[in-house]
Amino acid sequence: MTDYEAIIGLETHIQLNTITKVFCSCKADSWIDPPNTNICPVCCGLPGVLPILNKAVVEKGVLLANAMHSEIRLLSFFDRKNYFYPDLPKGFQISQFDQSLARGGYLDLPMPASASPDKQAYIRRVGIWKMHIEEDAGKTKTKGNRRLIDFNRCGVPLVEMVTAPDLRTADEAAQYLIRLRQLLRWLGISEADMEKAHLRCDANVSIRVKGETKLNPKTEIKNVNSIDAVRDAIIKEVDRQIREMEAGNRIEAWTLEWDEDTSTLKKMRSKETEADYRYFREPDLLPIRLEEEWKQAILADFPELPLERRARFIEQYGLPEYDAEILTSERHLSDYYENTVKAYGGDPKKVSNWLMNEVLRMINDQNLNPAEMSLNPAALACVIKLVDAGTINISTGKNLLQKVQLTGKTPDALVIEESLGLVSDESTIRVVCLEVLAESPNEVASYKSGKETLIGWFVGSVMKKMRGKADAALARQILEELLK
Ligand SMILES: [Zn+2]
Repeated sequence: MTDYEAIIGLETHIQLNTITKVFCSCKADSWIDPPNTNICPVCCGLPGVLPILNKAVVEKGVLLANAMHSEIRLLSFFDRKNYFYPDLPKGFQISQFDQSLARGGYLDLPMPASASPDKQAYIRRVGIWKMHIEEDAGKTKTKGNRRLIDFNRCGVPLVEMVTAPDLRTADEAAQYLIRLRQLLRWLGISEADMEKAHLRCDANVSIRVKGETKLNPKTEIKNVNSIDAVRDAIIKEVDRQIREMEAGNRIEAWTLEWDEDTSTLKKMRSKETEADYRYFREPDLLPIRLEEEWKQAILADFPELPLERRARFIEQYGLPEYDAEILTSERHLSDYYENTVKAYGGDPKKVSNWLMNEVLRMINDQNLNPAEMSLNPAALACVIKLVDAGTINISTGKNLLQKVQLTGKTPDALVIEESLGLVSDESTIRVVCLEVLAESPNEVASYKSGKETLIGWFVGSVMKKMRGKADAALARQILEELLK
């Protein structure tokens, strides 16, 4: 059997989370609004109107370009991409063609050992071919035998980003989308939610015999709206192309549509080429002149990126890769972790355990933002210290986390108010131990005749009487002494 490899490139459209659209002052995010209620003469392309560029779109575009290690052009232009479609009232889309905001760049994907045939973790570097700003078109849908148009989405700001055909497996393609989504949220420039079409992806797929260098005709898969669907669609299309090639057939450059309901690919049309769009410079907009001062202001607070932070957590705090990956999955969470480590001052791995086992569950169950929790890093650090010092036991500590979050009070205040502290006063515990022994003559007799494992049961009984607040080690010591 011939060994084939897949050649995959992804085209993503990213909806930027600006307040207003790219060339008018209509609201940018309107996916829940009733159709055609968030429109104006500019985004509907009425004659005689002029677009005005939203600065925030350029700023968010620059942040993304910088994160993708792209070269940022100090002078870039808008172009008209001409095509006719009912949801495009102007008959053209304002986009950027040859002199776009950014050029080149890459994203490194750490691939786990499980994703490689030789079971070795590796890094896949994915080159960026194109990155530009453009406006979105409207939406159409079919209802019975009528075609309905909604212009709300016209003029919503997008960044289109096209990768080089550097991806080799469906898993790598999925990983690219996972890392891109993480990066967009980290930078705070897009919700990057595929289900809400804030992040859209088309995949270009071709195959070739392993070892060859030429590129065969590719197909384009459109309309995939989840990361799992992208993975499925690529696997199916690669299989189909291999079957065609094995049967001696040519692969044709089709555009395929993913059908979510049946998980199948359907042929849409033959592909357009760029020449079909008759690009020319947009005469109604000035070029974007990104003065050095403006560029520096945009990049002034550029954050440490997730993969860098992940590597630093492993290095600086000695965390296992697993912990570092989860703790840097989201920027607020990684800040939360780091602030707790600072407030605690002890073993960073211990903080990671508390955070991943207890706090993360609370965050996920209650859909909390780590940056806004009452159980803030100082409070978490305080609870861990109270447990370390033996003031409270671990299970009280876990409950205390919930109480701090619920009441907004400090852990120290709650321990006093609800007298949660462990009782380590020897005479108090001794009284309860004597009580337990007096009430259990049978168990005492069994213990004395050699069944020493009963000590656990005695300690348990003391704890029960003291509602879990006795110092268990001390209780055990007293019991053993009394039973002698
Ligand atoms: Zn508008």
